[in-house]
Amino acid sequence: MSINQSGWRPTSPEANTVNVPASVTGNKALMLEEALIFEIGDAKTTGVDFGEGDVAHDMLGDLTRTAPIGLPGLSEPETVRHYTRLSRQNYGIDLGFFPLGSCTMKHNPRLNEKMARLPGFSDVHPLQPVDTVQGALEVIHQLAHWLVTLTGMTSVAMSPKAGAHGELCGILAIRAALEAKGEGARKIILVPESAHGTNPATAAFAGYSVEDIPATAEGRVDTAALKARLGPDVAGVMITNPNTCGLFERDMREISDAVHAAGGYVYCDGANFNAIVGRVRPGDLGIDAMHINLHKTFSTPHGGGGPGSGPVVFSEALTPYAPLPFVENQDGQFVLVEEETAGEHHAGSFGRMVAFHGQMGMFTRALTYILSHGADGLRQVSEDAVLNANYILRSLDDTLDAPFGPSGPCMHEALFSDSGLAAGFSTIDIAKGLIDEGFHPMTMYFPLVVHGAMLVEPTETESKAALDQFIAALRSVAERAKAGDPSLKTAPHFAPRARLDETLAARKPVLVWKDPAPLAQAAE
Ligand SMILES: *Cc1c(COP(=O)(O)O)cnc(C)c1O
Repeated sequence: MSINQSGWRPTSPEANTVNVPASVTGNKALMLEEALIFEIGDAKTTGVDFGEGDVAHDMLGDLTRTAPIGLPGLSEPETVRHYTRLSRQNYGIDLGFFPLGSCTMKHNPRLNEKMARLPGFSDVHPLQPVDTVQGALEVIHQLAHWLVTLTGMTSVAMSPKAGAHGELCGILAIRAALEAKGEGARKIILVPESAHGTNPATAAFAGYSVEDIPATAEGRVDTAALKARLGPDVAGVMITNPNTCGLFERDMREISDAVHAAGGYVYCDGANFNAIVGRVRPGDLGIDAMHINLHKTFSTPHGGGGPGSGPVVFSEALTPYAPLPFVENQDGQFVLVEEETAGEHHAGSFGRMVAFHGQMGMFTRALTYILSHGADGLRQVSEDAVLNANYILRSLDDTLDAPFGPSGPCMHEALFSDSGLAAGFSTIDIAKGLIDEGFHPMTMYFPLVVHGAMLVEPTETESKAALDQFIAALRSVAERAKAGDPSLKTAPHFAPRARLDETLAARKPVLVWKDPAPLAQAAE
């Protein structure tokens, strides 16, 4: 076995053909099985040796506990091991490549974390007098400046706490602008098929009716159909660009002009801004409002590592309706412009998205990331993200169906379909096979416009060696799915659990542990 050019050792298929009995422990090499903490410890044993306490009782009165709490007793090493084993069953970006699409960037530079933990940013309170938090306000102000500059827009609301929250912020500003013009009767928002699911949800939540606009065969908005639907009942459009098929909407300027001419506003879902940052300014495309997911474009933690942050940039037309507060530099002093101090120019503000000013920790991380890259570095990030996605697309389009491959390069994510797999095989089998190869699966069955979609987003941080290994793994699994290899139907074989009933788990999760002992006794 030799290390190949990319620095990993491909194995021969025979390597796994030796039949070995299952281990008596259920452990697989150093990957250990782990039961629930209630199953490994029990309430009758204790892991610690404290004397009886006598202080708390008197103060609790009627609230004094009368029955034991029933927590499992474990010693410190047992407890530490339990949680450490559980943590090892979680796949994360610090372990390996994460091909999930529609998530955008995933790596969180350690420098960001260090800056966010500086006490002047992490130990401040939102109600502190502003002269004691000048540095924190300057961070918000500087980040706002970068966001406005990078997008070519007029202003930015920093407070929304996620992408979907930003969408709501943008749509509420559009509604306020329409109402100010006496056009509040416009009740329709047009949303293309290729939009992210949060877009129609946001429009509906804000009280609008949503109408679908079809996609063209090449995966973009059908501009003619969109233009044909414009009229005096349309409040605006919500377009994801780059869209969820990983494609750039080339007609954006033409669409914006048509929407404006018909009296509506243009909302752009900018969650995928990392694919175009430094290359395209949404302001030049006629966009009126767009959210930016700091957790997708500017490297702040995502998902369980959150919270997110979704600032919204506004055009000149919508700026008077933007929410409060925002930070202003008044002769070298950073001040918070709030309801009392907003003045006439912001009298039209639709209100607030949150009680305070937004996610300070995320602002610090995002600004750290932006300053450590600089404008030219950010442009390179988007170029590298797009290059990596196209490398995957072109390396695999001979094996997997790439529905929009013929219409040219993709942006930051490569989209494949399940067309061409053997009868009875689908995207889920490829995903499960990838787990055996040591990869978290890609995004599956999304976007809905493509049958059995597989959306792969490598991001800019992956090396060619990492991409080559992933490509080899996906190619091998795809070939097995095309050949109808039955062992793929029961994959994963090396993971602690194989095929879960995912629908049942999602619809009826069992979140409370019940002691099986009384049940067993009752049955006796
Ligand atoms: C992730 C995403 C959203 C939603 O962002 P959240 O921060 O998860 O609310 C919206 N649109 C697109 C295109 C996305 O990828």
